[in-house]
Amino acid sequence: MVSRTDFLHALENDVKPAFGTSAEALDHLLIRGIINWGKPVAEILSDGNLYIQEARSTEGSGLVSVLLEGPPNSGKTALAAQIAKNSDFPFVKVCTPEDMVGFTESAKCLSIRKIFDDAYRSQLSCILVDNIERLLDYGPIGPRYSNLTLQALLVLLKKQPPRGRKLLILCTTSRRQVLDDMEMLSAFSTTLHVPNLSTPDHLLSVLEEMDLFSKDELLSLHAKLQGKRVFIGIKKLLCLIDMARQVEPNYRVVKFLSKLEEEGGLE
Ligand code: ATP
Ligand code: MG
Repeated sequence: MVSRTDFLHALENDVKPAFGTSAEALDHLLIRGIINWGKPVAEILSDGNLYIQEARSTEGSGLVSVLLEGPPNSGKTALAAQIAKNSDFPFVKVCTPEDMVGFTESAKCLSIRKIFDDAYRSQLSCILVDNIERLLDYGPIGPRYSNLTLQALLVLLKKQPPRGRKLLILCTTSRRQVLDDMEMLSAFSTTLHVPNLSTPDHLLSVLEEMDLFSKDELLSLHAKLQGKRVFIGIKKLLCLIDMARQVEPNYRVVKFLSKLEEEGGLE
């Protein structure tokens, strides 16, 4: 016979969330992988490893919270997911505003709290709080935000896990200034800046990886890009590359460059 306790146990431990397991949630954020387009990428990942070590260490406080901040489309979410994956912590949970569409403020706070409560029960946990300003319902017109959610997050960001438990919190935002205004920045142990691609070499590294242009085309792009200023987020660049794939090969280079200029990624 199935008792109520069995049922509750299963609900707590066996029932998978609708969007799949935590590992699947991370892989979903990493579908396109991480291209090592330059020094910033390598540095963010190696700093990430240091924070993982710090969170793991027995001498440490057991709590490490990292804010990955940078312009929209710069790759913050994917890099945070990669760091979470690198941690290899058995409990990994993604907390994203997308899963809380239509929630009331209090439902949102409860569900964030549930994620943290679950994490405290595991020895080594990692929580990825994606797009923190959207989780706070921040809108630039007004400006407005949910103070209830902000207060809840501030408490949880600083709350020490129970003795012997380790928690690594990774948060992302495109609105560093807003978080600063909300006095949230100081709640983090550290910040990692995720920049846009900013040199022709960064751009060429991605193009070489993407298997879109021939060797000759890459050489001609290399020449055309000399002395130019590049400024584009990896996510946007990957979109442009997808689009260029649809263009007839003869026009690809020209079309790609003109789109890049149009998007303000090249001067
Ligand atoms: P948003 O501002 O909309 O939140 P974002 O900065 O979080 O965007 P992501 O959603 O992480 O950007 O998108 C980055 C995309 O680029 C992902 O699909 C990721 O797999 C891919 N990608 C490839 N190389 C890298 C890299 N070096 N760093 C980050 N993302 C990369
Ligand atoms: Mg993101």
